[in-house]
Amino acid sequence: MQYTIQEIEAILGLPLSKRKADKITILLTDSRKLTLPAETLFFALETKNNDAHLFIGELYEKGVRNFVVSKVLPEWGNFDDANFLKVKNSLSALQKMAAYHRKQFDIPVIGITGSNGKTIVKEWLYQLLEGNYNIVRSPRSYNSQVGVPLSVWQLDGETELGIFEAGISMPDEMEKLEPIIRPTIGVLTKIGEAHQENFASLQQKIMEKLALFVNCDVFIFDEDNHLVSECVDQMVLSQKTFTWSRKNRDAHLYISAVKREGEKTVIDYSLLDFNDSFTIPFTDEASIENAISCLAVALYLHILPANISLRMAMLEPVAMRLDVRKGKESCIIINDTYNSDINSIKIALDFQQQRKVDRHLKKTLILSDILQAGIPPKLLYKKVAEMVEQSGVERIIGIGRDIPVYQDLFSMPEKSFYQTTDQFISSGEWKQFDHELILLKGARRFHFEQIGALIEERIHETMLEVDLDAVVHNFNFYKSRLQSNVKLVCMVKANGYGAGAVEIAKTLQYHRCDYLAVAVAEEGIQLRKEGISLPLIVLNPEVNGFEELFTADLEPEVYNFRILEAFIKESERRGITDYPIHLKIDTGMHRLGFLPEQIPEMITMLKKQKGLKVRSVFSHLSASESWHFDDFTHRQMEIFRKGADEIGKAFNYPVYKHILNSAGMERFQDTKWDMARLGIGLYGISASGLPGLKNVCTLKTTILQIKNVLSNETIGYGRKEKLDRDARIATIRFGYADGLDRQFGNRKGKVLINGQYAPIVGNVCMDLCMVDVTDIEAREGDTVILFGENLSVIELADSIGTIPYEILTSISQRVKRVYIKE
Ligand SMILES: *Cc1c(COP(=O)(O)O)cnc(C)c1O
Repeated sequence: MQYTIQEIEAILGLPLSKRKADKITILLTDSRKLTLPAETLFFALETKNNDAHLFIGELYEKGVRNFVVSKVLPEWGNFDDANFLKVKNSLSALQKMAAYHRKQFDIPVIGITGSNGKTIVKEWLYQLLEGNYNIVRSPRSYNSQVGVPLSVWQLDGETELGIFEAGISMPDEMEKLEPIIRPTIGVLTKIGEAHQENFASLQQKIMEKLALFVNCDVFIFDEDNHLVSECVDQMVLSQKTFTWSRKNRDAHLYISAVKREGEKTVIDYSLLDFNDSFTIPFTDEASIENAISCLAVALYLHILPANISLRMAMLEPVAMRLDVRKGKESCIIINDTYNSDINSIKIALDFQQQRKVDRHLKKTLILSDILQAGIPPKLLYKKVAEMVEQSGVERIIGIGRDIPVYQDLFSMPEKSFYQTTDQFISSGEWKQFDHELILLKGARRFHFEQIGALIEERIHETMLEVDLDAVVHNFNFYKSRLQSNVKLVCMVKANGYGAGAVEIAKTLQYHRCDYLAVAVAEEGIQLRKEGISLPLIVLNPEVNGFEELFTADLEPEVYNFRILEAFIKESERRGITDYPIHLKIDTGMHRLGFLPEQIPEMITMLKKQKGLKVRSVFSHLSASESWHFDDFTHRQMEIFRKGADEIGKAFNYPVYKHILNSAGMERFQDTKWDMARLGIGLYGISASGLPGLKNVCTLKTTILQIKNVLSNETIGYGRKEKLDRDARIATIRFGYADGLDRQFGNRKGKVLINGQYAPIVGNVCMDLCMVDVTDIEAREGDTVILFGENLSVIELADSIGTIPYEILTSISQRVKRVYIKE
């Protein structure tokens, strides 16, 4: 769909300009996702942490000419050929546009909300209804105040059914989403405690969610949830309700039986006098509920029960995330076999672009046929080819029946096409992959996971899973605690606290972090090789290390006269001027740093030379996490403030001052500094116990063997543990060489298996250890969690008298890091 700028001005109630009638097809809110500048309308959104008005200059450079703004900055004065649509609030304007767009379509639209299962119900409905309708749906979980308008914007003349999800975390948000989605069919999924903190009560949250359904023709929900039923009564929703129940025969849809049979579940139902049953390939409670919600929608839409049964049996799990894995021959593989419609291709290509910071990696796309009804294939593949071309893919491998037919549309330097995944595999072409960033993007039926298995580095079942979305969440969490002009230095020393410095740094670079810091020069050099261009501080440089620092553009911490003199001499010898350094003051930690009384002499030395320039001055707090030492901490800050002011005054350029680490930011929010250094908090651990962070690292392995051992037998080396009952003992693949402290042996530590705790028994071995699974459900091959969401590193560290930092950084390099991202 396209609108002219004048039409958009009219929709937004702005005076009509006489400017060029640009045709707009793309609404953009994230400047990094720019594709077709000429057709883009950029909405400069302002959030607590970001002001997108700052990116308008950059977008203008790239050819964007149409902007919705809430203020006009003087530096745009010479952008004469650009259109600035000035509104009060850019987000409201975006929502208004989308609501207007929605009104143009008189088609059924399914609106889904609830606490859990929204995305799954949306995807399953898509799988169930795809055969009957040409569907537009929210990409992944685009369900926010920004995501919903962008989802609805995709509706076009071909669309026969829309499926959109809405998520809220604050009161009054649903009211804004309702006119944008304007569902005709409402579906409420399971209600739980998620995002409860901003609502007075569960009831208030439910009522708020129900606001999505005020204009629906029908509203579908589980009447067994009494609180929901009560709220529905209170709201006097005007439309028909369509209820389902597993208890009440009088519900519109009665679920008479749910029988688990091996890996499947058979569900019997009756609707009026009609009885039928269907099978789903899942057995968990959540899947059963989600399938019943989908059944209700399908029945309401008069899909034939026989077809419903057929499609239910083939429901596929919804992988909610793209994952990034290490491939063979220095390749990186982005797996996305979640779906293959045209929107999801765009998202995956964006993600690939975002990961391509290393210039030496070739961009390769392995793409299957796109299963999208409604668009004639020629047009479809033309669109796809354009998208692929814009995103700079250098090599394409197309697999399927259709895509080879349209191969001429693809103009990449390297291309090849195959009819089937098997043909591609037997061609052996994959053996030549070398230094490539490979996006595996295919519909499920093409089974691209078989390709993944061939080109991934040997899959160990032991891995440290790192949630990059949680890293971003934590980064923004701290940023929002600081005043907006305070810069954040993110610590990626010690391989990013064990999580993997490279991927963490790439993520932070993309999210516009200001500075990174590492401990030693080699860490910085590695990041530079991987394409990290952010300013980088090296905390512990060596006296003769200037060469390396200088070559890789790394900024040293300078902590004593010896290193200061050496660097001054080296810089002058090379004719370098103004090389940035960071001065460290020792205010009580007594580790590295100049003592306060050395400051005058240090200033004198610095003023006499031109090679180095002081970028910042900083100090480190010894006990910021503990209120016991608050007097001491305040004294440290006092001493620092004095020294830093002395240094600041000595130079006629700005010198940043910083002292807070993660715990410092948590506890001394009101002290004023120019920068702050974020370490452990980025990785999801609050030293002071502050709530609100997300878990980043999950350490996983598997059970290799389970055996029954009789009472009085002993387990493991040294016969340390003697059983006092008959027990089931599982051997898991993780030992002290992987980073499991031996102190966890003999029931000091525990692991999590299928949501239940199992103590570690006997001494920890080098590559293995044993756990007691007598009282829990566990099978060989099951996943074992050594730490993560429900087994916190903090608790583990406490139990053996250490700190989370040590546990995280002790995970051996042989444990594969896997990065996940929604
Ligand atoms: C590691 C380190 C930090 C980060 O500390 P956290 O407690 O992890 O936030 C800050 N500053 C310096 C100098 C460090 O060495």
